Amino acid sequence: MNEKIIDGKAHALRVKEKIKAEIQATCGSGQVRQPCLAVILVGNDPASGVYVRNKELACHSIGMKSESFRLDERATAAELEDIIHKLNEDKNIDGILLQLPLPRHLDSFHFIPMIDPKKDVDGLTPSSQGLINWNKPGHRPCTPAGIIYLLKEENIPLVGANAVVIGRSVLVGWSVATLLQQQGATVTVIHSKSKNPEKISRTADILVVAAGKPLLVNNEWVKEKATIIDVGIHKTEKGLVGDVDFKSVIELAHKITPVPGGVGPMTITMLMNNTFDAYKMNLGIE
Ligand code: NAD
Repeated sequence: MNEKIIDGKAHALRVKEKIKAEIQATCGSGQVRQPCLAVILVGNDPASGVYVRNKELACHSIGMKSESFRLDERATAAELEDIIHKLNEDKNIDGILLQLPLPRHLDSFHFIPMIDPKKDVDGLTPSSQGLINWNKPGHRPCTPAGIIYLLKEENIPLVGANAVVIGRSVLVGWSVATLLQQQGATVTVIHSKSKNPEKISRTADILVVAAGKPLLVNNEWVKEKATIIDVGIHKTEKGLVGDVDFKSVIELAHKITPVPGGVGPMTITMLMNNTFDAYKMNLGIE
C-alpha cells in the first residue's frame, strides 16, 4: 500500500484483536458473562440497517454479545422511551446505541439524554459531552476518538500543529475539534457559513473533513505535506467517495485516509472499545 495511505482497516483490526483477547481472558472460562451492546434501530433507512448489521457483526467477531431492538417507522415517542428506560435498568446490558438519524417525528435531542451516561457508548449525551469539554474521563464519540487514535498511531505531531476541522456536528466535527485542542493543536473550525474556506483550509497541518459533501475538498484546499482525514462517505455512480477528492490531493498530502477503509473501520472499533470499557466499569473489573 502507498505509504501515504493511512490503513484504517489494519489499525482497526489490531485494536479489535486486543479487545478480543481481553474478552477471552475475562470471560473465556464462562464464569463471567460476556459484554453486551444493545442497538436500537427505528424505521427502515437502508444505510442505518447496514450500519447496525456491521456493528452486530463486529461485536460477534470479538466475543461480544449484541441485542437489537427494531422499531417500526411510525413508532411513538413512548415506545422508544420505554425501550431506553428498560435497557438503562438491565444489568446485563453494558452499552446502548441509538442509531441515528431517527424518523422525522422523533427528535434525537429528546431521546439521547435519556440514555444512562455509563452506557452511552456513542458519547453523545449531554453528560458525556460535558466530560469532553472538561477533559475528564468518559465515553468519547466513536469517530472523533478513532481519528485521534489514527493520528497518534501514525506519529502525526499534534502539539502545536495547526488543525482545521471542516464541519461542526456534535457527532464528528465539534467533538474532534475539542479533542484535537486537548492534544495541543491549534484548531480552526470551518462550517457552512464560513467565508474563504479554501484559504483557511490551506493553513492546516492536519485537515479533518466532516462536511457531508462529496468531493468538497480538492488540491486548492490543501497545503503541501498536510495530513488529511476524510470522514465523509457517499455512495455515487462511481462507487464510494469521501468529502475529499483523493486523486486531486494525494500528491500534496503527507498522509491521507482512504474512503472506504480509513475512518469508517475505526468508528466501529471505538464503539467496541467504549462498550468493553462500559462492561468493565459495570462489573467492577480493572
Ligand atoms: P452533519 O450534516 O451533521 O454536519 C455537517 C457539518 O458540515 C455541519 O456542521 C455543516 O455546517 C458543515 N458543512 C456543510 N457543508 C459545508 C461546506 N460546504 N463547507 C464547510 N462546512 C460545511 O454531518 P456529520 O454527522 O458530522 O457527518 C459528516 C459526514 O461524515 C457525512 O458524510 C457522514 O456520512 C460521515 N460520517 C462518517 C462516519 C464514518 O465512520 N466514516 C461517521 C460519522 C459520519
